[in-house]
Amino acid sequence: MSEQKSNRFGFAINRSRAINYDTSDRKVREYVTLREPSFRLCFACGGCTAACTAGQHAPFNLRRMNTCIRRGELDTLREEVTRCMLCGKCLLVCPRGVNTRNVVSATAEALRKLDRNEL
Ligand code: SF4
Ligand code: SF4
Repeated sequence: MSEQKSNRFGFAINRSRAINYDTSDRKVREYVTLREPSFRLCFACGGCTAACTAGQHAPFNLRRMNTCIRRGELDTLREEVTRCMLCGKCLLVCPRGVNTRNVVSATAEALRKLDRNEL
């Protein structure tokens, strides 16, 4: 369907968010999961995002960051990861016991290693 047709009623169909495993970069996800195995337990409820201190002052969303790790969307990750203040409030509300602070630290570490070709 052409874009013009799909916009006829004032809305459009979202761009496909399917993950292409042939092109998606899995290195960061693998590193984070190895460093912090509880990352596997995240079921994207958004509790951490609702409680997040940084999210009240900046466009930061931990749930979105977790999704970007899984999808290998590294450009968005690079922007997001610097916004976390590592206060640990999200740790207290996560119903799955994900060590969210470690997830953020491991992500930052993975991106640094990737930039230095160490991953
Ligand atoms: S609160 Fe825990 S389970 Fe929910 S999105 Fe955050 S990390 Fe994932
Ligand atoms: S540790 Fe980071 S993600 Fe968690 S509540 Fe604090 S600022 Fe938000």
